[in-house]
Amino acid sequence: MHLEIRLKTLTPLWTGGVDQTCDRLHETGLIGSLRWWYEALVRGLGGYACDPTSENRCPDRNGDHCAACELFGCTGWARKFRLRVLDASKQLILETIPADTEFTLEFVELRPIQPEEKWLLVKSIEIAARYGALGGKTTLKPQKDRYKGVDYGIVQWIEMQPEITKPEIIHYFQRSDFRGGEGEFPDLRWFFFLKDAFLGRVQINSLIGLSDDGRRIIGHEKYQQFLRGRRGGKNQDAVSKKIFSFHVAGGRVWGYAKDAHMRGEIIRQIRQQLGDGKYTVKTGEEVLNEL
Ligand SMILES: [Zn+2]
Repeated sequence: MHLEIRLKTLTPLWTGGVDQTCDRLHETGLIGSLRWWYEALVRGLGGYACDPTSENRCPDRNGDHCAACELFGCTGWARKFRLRVLDASKQLILETIPADTEFTLEFVELRPIQPEEKWLLVKSIEIAARYGALGGKTTLKPQKDRYKGVDYGIVQWIEMQPEITKPEIIHYFQRSDFRGGEGEFPDLRWFFFLKDAFLGRVQINSLIGLSDDGRRIIGHEKYQQFLRGRRGGKNQDAVSKKIFSFHVAGGRVWGYAKDAHMRGEIIRQIRQQLGDGKYTVKTGEEVLNEL
């Protein structure tokens, strides 16, 4: 397979030293975020994808692994492709891509990739490009202070080659009967995407139940606890925030909830913060229906 996806950065994009390692725990850059969106899409379509940072990660006791690990690899099972990020003159890009730059994601097949996997890969990238964000320093880890206020990872979809027709994806998931534990992992169905909208820091703090300055917890609704995640400490891991807002290109807000009910509540609260305006709201379920 030779799969090429052309994108253009609207903000800088941190690739994070692409393809240096197969160890998912250290996949913090672009490849980690590609996997993150792939997992969300797999779950959104009714498949199982483990959380590779959790205890329940693949392989399981029988050596089986989930749909995401099948493509992206896990302990004892190598990733099926190599990812290269190329600039307009086909030179490798290793670190950060500046804003307003066209680039190509080139997937080099190392072992046979199923048509379903190719389709899932392309669609997950398309969804991230059209509605979300890519690369490190946005979604996977709580943001570091030095990146506060700087948009990262917003791209524009240009095209892909070759075109891929939609396979019978349901059958693909039925083939694998491996199931892991249930969790509160990102599931594309419960995502929300706003276009032409922007939430400032104080608005985000209000939504996630923090004081204006972000220092104190003042809201205890379930959706607020879920959205804000938590800081890491001696005895607990950090849990990422689940709502993100970007200034660029008219504004973009996206995030996810635990289920449809919580997603509805969050969208209501966001509408209250934004008031009337010409923004559009789309749910992950709507995005899935359009695939
Ligand atoms: Zn897995």
